[in-house]
Amino acid sequence: MSMGLRTGDQYVEGIKTRNKAKIYVLGKRVHDVTTNLFLKPSVLSFKATFDAAFEEDTRDLARVYSPFAGEEVNRFNSIHMGPQDLVAKVKLLRKLSHKTGTCFQRCVGWDALNTLYIVTKKLAEKEGKGIYYKNFIKYLEYVQRRDLALAGAMTDVKGVRPLKPSEQPNPDAYVRVVEERDDGIVVRGAKANITGIAVVDEVVVMPTRAMTEKDEVYAISFAIPLDTEGVTVVVGRQLNDARRLEEGEIDGLPYMFNHEGLLILEDVYVPWDRVFMYREWKWAGVLVEVFSAYHRQGYAGCKSGLGDVIIGAAYNLAKQIGVADKPHVREKLTEMVFLNETMYSAGLAASWEGKKLVEGDGGWWVNPMYANVTKHLVTRFPYEVSRLAHDIAGGLLGTAPSEFDLKNEEVGKLVAKYLQGVPEFTAEDRLRMLRLLENTSISVAYLVESVHGAGSPQAQRISMERIYDFYTVEKIAKSLARMGQRKADPRVEPHKPTDSEKA
Ligand SMILES: Cc1cc2nc3c(=O)[nH]c(=O)nc-3n(C[C@H](O)[C@H](O)[C@H](O)COP(=O)(O)OP(=O)(O)OC[C@H]3O[C@@H](n4cnc5c(N)ncnc54)[C@H](O)[C@@H]3O)c2cc1C
Repeated sequence: MSMGLRTGDQYVEGIKTRNKAKIYVLGKRVHDVTTNLFLKPSVLSFKATFDAAFEEDTRDLARVYSPFAGEEVNRFNSIHMGPQDLVAKVKLLRKLSHKTGTCFQRCVGWDALNTLYIVTKKLAEKEGKGIYYKNFIKYLEYVQRRDLALAGAMTDVKGVRPLKPSEQPNPDAYVRVVEERDDGIVVRGAKANITGIAVVDEVVVMPTRAMTEKDEVYAISFAIPLDTEGVTVVVGRQLNDARRLEEGEIDGLPYMFNHEGLLILEDVYVPWDRVFMYREWKWAGVLVEVFSAYHRQGYAGCKSGLGDVIIGAAYNLAKQIGVADKPHVREKLTEMVFLNETMYSAGLAASWEGKKLVEGDGGWWVNPMYANVTKHLVTRFPYEVSRLAHDIAGGLLGTAPSEFDLKNEEVGKLVAKYLQGVPEFTAEDRLRMLRLLENTSISVAYLVESVHGAGSPQAQRISMERIYDFYTVEKIAKSLARMGQRKADPRVEPHKPTDSEKA
């Protein structure tokens, strides 16, 4: 077997011990993240991204030839070589949501790789600084050949939001370099909300905003193994998370969940060959723009996949209580389909209309307008899909007894008798489907992540306003209103080039 493709079990084996990094879950230090009950569902959903490369229904989507490694690699570590790869990304993410029912946590690292490919290459092409690209390609091959699991850490803790990094009362509110040595740099700071952080092999760190010259110590990008001296991870908690500790098999969803965490770097050493950007303050804004557009496009896939799970659950629950054929229920299901496929379509448009940003192989970026539109839809539509699903499911969604009541010798029979709807389904079926719907439709992965992941809603509005060419459309309107003439313009879409296209 090529090492560019690890199995899920090989991935799990690889993350077992954390000796140097301190991982905290619910206030306690964890050394083996694979046996910890709280993290287990997260390990399982990450694992699904590895197994996908060997499973019949995802095999072709989940693996791709890499010219860098010279072999087939897991698509989650690949560089996009054309629009078809961007499309495959969205499709793979939709399929993986069907397998996990949650966020499977591996796309942030993937987007980080593609971002750094473009930005380091541009730094070489435009400024003659070839060292970053050289370092990055070496790292890319390392990651691809070992099929490593990556986290992408962009979001700093950011202290006082309107202040720049150099203006913050806490100088460590953004990750910065605190020491430059002959053999590398020493970094300090913290990144918030980092998906999958406790269960990855490596973390790719990037700046989170555009910067000025005064912020140059913050304009850095690098990668470290998670198990590095000076790294602390504090895993965050989610709604219903204590159910994982009950060891049931219905309520807490024994299958999958994601996690986010606070990544703290206390004077962590990074060797030079793992540094991809150093004090390049002029490029921080471009890096953020490239990354966020990639990440915004991806949401079309994972969130529409979760939408499929929710629509399927709502349809089944409607059947279980005998209302699936009622006109208003069919209307609601159709509305859910419309909302779901709209998000997906926008992501496909962002992919097919992708743009090549650098010379040579690869460097295919998404269409930034449609990527922003995609993510902006995602900040709204999942809430409406969930609302409609909750309407159809009935109040039991929020009030159902636990699986332990159903399994109780005394009360179990009564629960089974009174919670059954149509005779074709048992009360256990109903409970299982209600819990699936509860755990997916009210989850961080489907709701909070949809609003804030890849940037809060305002971030997309700022991008859309910047890209749309109001001057040109005013000219169009004026010429049709006979208020002036306009020159022929071959552009169909009135979009202006972004900073990343101009850089
Ligand atoms: C589930 C989940 C997973 C995530 N995974 C990752 C990950 O893997 N890697 C990663 O790097 N990040 C990740 N993120 C972080 C995500 O990118 C951020 O949450 C997002 O960019 C918003 O930043 P924030 O949370 O700091 O919110 P804030 O920036 O605090 O935003 C809160 C509000 O303040 C407003 N605001 C902020 N600054 C200003 C300003 N200067 N002027 C006016 N209004 C302002 C915002 O518009 C928003 O309405 C994840 C987030 C979530 C919720």
